[in-house]
Amino acid sequence: MGNNGSTGASRKPSRKKPARGVSRRALLIGGGAVAVGGGLVLARDEVERMWWRVPGVEKPRTPGELDYPGATWVAASEANWRRADRPDDFGIDRVIIHVTQGSFASAVRVFQDPAHRAATHYIVGQDGRVVQMIRELDVAYQAGDRAYNERSVGIEHEGFVDRPKDLTTAMYEASARLTASICARHDIPIDREHIIGHVEVPGTDHTDPGPHWDWDRYLELVRRAATARAARSAPPAAG
Ligand SMILES: [Zn+2]
Repeated sequence: MGNNGSTGASRKPSRKKPARGVSRRALLIGGGAVAVGGGLVLARDEVERMWWRVPGVEKPRTPGELDYPGATWVAASEANWRRADRPDDFGIDRVIIHVTQGSFASAVRVFQDPAHRAATHYIVGQDGRVVQMIRELDVAYQAGDRAYNERSVGIEHEGFVDRPKDLTTAMYEASARLTASICARHDIPIDREHIIGHVEVPGTDHTDPGPHWDWDRYLELVRRAATARAARSAPPAAG
């Protein structure tokens, strides 16, 4: 299960202050005004391209847009994540595996609850369904560690850590396809250094995904899904 942790909570900027993107936007517009005063007028598309390159200035978002086409979108409460512009502001090099300690529905519900102060990007059900609740460009409060939140994409899995039967084949396979997609899109190596459990986040007191999570099986499934994915996207052979 995710949490924002003491580190994440204490460093979370107050909602009253302008977001970093807003202040940089103001700075850029201010700089533009000076340039105009000096007789140096930038073309509109030039300004837009400069804007694009400033980390922390958010990209346009379409409500309901998915990073993983196999998911359906259910928005998490904005209190459970932070707007970002990954990978331009923070590189993504970890996938963090969680187990919910509750039902699929209860996980969706708490991620929609602003009082929960935690959520992951995705939830995978025992039946293999995948819900995306936070965009991958944003930082989910999932690891209890600010640096790990900023560098990772988090996946919850429906079940309890002490119930091995909760870890179904459908869930492993659906999660592996999702992780293969995340790794391909962010160029993350498929290994145990980069695909980790919440328990492996430094300083955490969480134990998920627990002793029954079969890492060898999971990594093998992710590799297989990555191979299938690469074959689908490869251009057809000539002739
Ligand atoms: Zn967790």
